[in-house]
Formats: sequence, C-alpha cells, structure tokens
Amino acid sequence: MLQVNNLTFQYKKQPILKAISFSVKTGEHFSIIGESGSGKSTLLKLLYGTYDLNEGHIFWNDTEILGPKHNLIVGPKYMKYVAQEFDLMPFITVAENIGAYLSNFYPEEKQARIEELLDVIELRPYANIKVKELSGGQKQRVAIARAIAKQPEVLLLDEPFSHIDNFKKQSLRRSLFKYLKDKNITCIVATHDKDDVLSFSDHMMVLHDAKIMAKGTPQELYKSPKNELIASFFDEFNNIENYGMVYANQLKVVENSNLKAIVKSSYYKGNYYLIEAELDGETVLLEHKEHLKKGLLICLSVLKQPKTPFQS
Ligand code: ADP
Ligand code: MG
Repeated sequence: MLQVNNLTFQYKKQPILKAISFSVKTGEHFSIIGESGSGKSTLLKLLYGTYDLNEGHIFWNDTEILGPKHNLIVGPKYMKYVAQEFDLMPFITVAENIGAYLSNFYPEEKQARIEELLDVIELRPYANIKVKELSGGQKQRVAIARAIAKQPEVLLLDEPFSHIDNFKKQSLRRSLFKYLKDKNITCIVATHDKDDVLSFSDHMMVLHDAKIMAKGTPQELYKSPKNELIASFFDEFNNIENYGMVYANQLKVVENSNLKAIVKSSYYKGNYYLIEAELDGETVLLEHKEHLKKGLLICLSVLKQPKTPFQS
C-alpha cells in the first residue's frame, strides 16, 4: 500500500501542496485530477522521491520514500515513472528502447518480453524503427512500454495519453490498463481526461488550491459533484436553482413543464445534439436526439432529485 501522510511541499515560497494525505492499495488504479498548475505533476515527482518534502512522509508498505537528501539515486527500484516530457534514446530502435533495462542474459526471454510489450502498446510493426522517426504519440507509447518492461510494483503515469490521437487512444487505454490490472501493478495517473478515469480508476482525487478538494470513487464523484470544477471535469453541466449541478444529459425536453426555454444553438455530437438554450435569462445545455431550430420554445424536465423540496 502507498501511504501519503500530511505532505507539504513548496518549490519557492508559495506552497504547491499543503497537508496532503491519501493512500492507494496494492494493485489499485488511482487518478489524480485537477486544473493545469494544480500540482499533479509535482505530486507524482514527490511520490517518486524527486524532491525532499517540506513536511510529511510517503511510504510504500513499510519503506519510506525519501528525497535526494537521503537518497543518491532518485526513484525506488520497484517504481517506474513516465514523465509528461518522456525521454527516450532517439538513435536506437523502438525494440531496443523497450529492452534497454532488460537483462541480456536470456536473449530469447528478452525478445519474447519485448514482443509482448510491443503488443500492449500496439507498436509491433515499428519494432525496428529508430525512435527519432516516431511521432510524439508513438514515443509516448514506447516510454510506457519501457517503464513496464521490468514489471514495477508501482507505475506513475503523468498524462499518459496526452500526445496520442483519438484513433489509437481508446484501444490503447483499455489494453494498458487491463495489462496493469492483470499484473496487479499499482498505477497512479495524473490526468485531465475523464476517459482515463471513469472506466478504469478504483479511486480518484481532485487537487485544487494546493489541497485535496474531493476524494472517492469515480461513481461517487460523478453522481454528486460537489461543485462546478468537479462537474466540469466530467461533462457539460448546468447549475440550476434547487437542483445544483445538472449534467446536460440530465436535462430533457418534455411536452409540458414550468421550465420554459428558447433554443439558441444545436451542436452535432454524433448520437445526439448538444442544445444551447436560454432559461430565465441564463444559458443551459442539454442533450437531445434531434437538431432543434433556433428560436424554438421548449419545456424542460430535470432528471435528478431536487436538493430541497419545492414549495407550492
Ligand atoms: P500540473 O501538473 O497540475 O499542471 P505542476 O505540478 O506541473 O501542475 O505545477 C504546479 C505548480 O508548481 C505550478 O504553479 C508550477 O508553475 C509550479 N512548478 C512546477 N515545477 C516547478 C519548478 N521546477 N520550480 C518552480 N515551480 C514549479
Ligand atoms: Mg502536469
């Protein structure tokens, strides 16, 4: 289990992280979310022992993770960290990069392992291509494969799919996270992409203002987002009187209701349209099967319990 107790850290005068405590069980997939600059990358680097803490402690099981003051080599052996700016060896091939930390003592096993990893990151056809000839997204995939080559106990991933295009992202995400679960590798992911979290994380936490704003399962945080920041991470939303945070998919067009709105725009989203409408002078967003004409009067219903009972 990874245990973070009362961690405080500052690069300069301003604390970046204040009194942070959380734990991650072995084999768990844990996500750290938050706006840009909220300290996600800093926290991952601290978990890896890159800097000395100002206060607090980090433990993996019974071993404390210490910073450079107490440790000559940054990064515990059982842990791997894939930085936002991954660094690979550009002049050797994809296969050589992935195998860089694997022993040459058993060449056949090494080759088999490299092939297995090439499949996880879906880059087998590129095995013999030099890394300098790859796209940013392909490099990111190689960096991930290299990090898991020696099967760490803990994997830290910083925005792991940020450079990878949508064509590949979905299947790659499933393939990697399934692999990590199967091998019981504890995985901590800093991300701003809800798709990295919703289907895969066991637990998640939100960083804001140097502190933990919320913690829970994705279901808990999605179902009752405490505030606009958390709701906006997951989806388009409205803040409606008496209801609080209402996702666009929880607002529905009905035959008749007291909530009357006028359509402003319709945006095609594939299997639905995102409708922008005006309700009591405020803009609201809702999902609807069909395109609606600008100026149309619609009645809305909220598919959610009101916060307080209506007075009649
Ligand atoms: P995130 O990953 O959530 O975008 P970061 O952890 O990268 O956030 O940054 C958090 C804050 O720390 C930012 O205000 C950033 O400017 C600052 N910061 C990051 N790295 C350094 C550094 N090496 N020296 C000083 N300040 C830094
Ligand atoms: Mg970052």
